[in-house]
Amino acid sequence: MLDARLLHSLPQLPQPILTAYLDTNPANPRNQGHPPGALIWLKSRARVLRSRIPKAEQKLFQEQVRRVEELLRNQPPRERGLVVFAGPETWQVIPLQVDVEDELHWGRPSFTQLLWLLDEHQPCGAALVDRSGARFYKFWMGFAEEQEKLRFQLDLAEWRKKYLVPPAHPGVQKTRGSQRDVFEQRVEAQLEKFYKETANRIQQWANEEKLIPVVVAGPQGAVDSVWNELPGNFQERCLLIRADLSHLAPADLAVRLEQEIKAWKRDREQQMVERLLANPNGTRAVVGPDETLRRIQEGMARELVVVRGLGGRLRQCQNCLWVDRSADRICPACGGERRLVPLRAVLPELARRYNVHVEVIAGEAARKLREFGGLAAWLR
Ligand SMILES: [Zn+2]
Repeated sequence: MLDARLLHSLPQLPQPILTAYLDTNPANPRNQGHPPGALIWLKSRARVLRSRIPKAEQKLFQEQVRRVEELLRNQPPRERGLVVFAGPETWQVIPLQVDVEDELHWGRPSFTQLLWLLDEHQPCGAALVDRSGARFYKFWMGFAEEQEKLRFQLDLAEWRKKYLVPPAHPGVQKTRGSQRDVFEQRVEAQLEKFYKETANRIQQWANEEKLIPVVVAGPQGAVDSVWNELPGNFQERCLLIRADLSHLAPADLAVRLEQEIKAWKRDREQQMVERLLANPNGTRAVVGPDETLRRIQEGMARELVVVRGLGGRLRQCQNCLWVDRSADRICPACGGERRLVPLRAVLPELARRYNVHVEVIAGEAARKLREFGGLAAWLR
């Protein structure tokens, strides 16, 4: 499974290296034959690619292709996709539970698709609460894991000793009923305290893990108590579901919540695009490729909004790396040579270099932003 440490180590992979992105989804009919479609694609693509690489590297290339072929043959993947980095000293297989497009590269490791997938699949979470406790689940790149539990513990031992011992004298009997009420109130007060602590923990956890949205789910009553303890601006990144889902295993919970989370995201994207278009090229936001690329490279953008699957080409200076849509072959700033580069390949790296968060949008919001060139940014 993907983790931050692995991602951090990838750029240091030695070259030349084979990068293979493979759609291995068992539900894809092409992968149900023998040999599976992913293997057939790999063989035919490798033949094309081999003819384009230097003669001296062809043997090495062929060896790496064979290793990936063997992987597909001997351990048929059950995941929806695979990314493999293979070289003489490298063997890194990353199984993915999201849809992957077939790609094969030789030379420098290719991270473009992986970065797009990471930007498109931001982590989200679910906190399940009831009167017995709270459980926290993280969903990311098609994986689901339980992260922690909070138990509701009654701290009543002392209190019980003091008030609930059977009365020594029959005359005291009468008060027992009202003592029970006090006991009940005491439990309720502790529950309220627990709900408040849970609400605080949900906020802390969501910020640490950068989760959007956070589903807060549970039986009516308990879930409302927690929800009401969340501040309004935090509720905006949450989704309230009044249902007891505590019987579900993490993977089933992810499936159960998938449609609601997707609808929530699409809704949020629409609101965001509307706000962007209401603030055109002012001080808060820019809309359109030229302004957006410029402000990112000036260090002025904090969040890039991009339509999923956006294509097109840009020119990039090979010296100072400045990139834009102008046709100049010589960089006006440094005199360096400018080469055509696919926008898709440049954008994820650009965003990381300038520390810009990327929001990949789809659906109706994407259709609207596409009319304005498919790119926009919130400014710092
Ligand atoms: Zn330049």
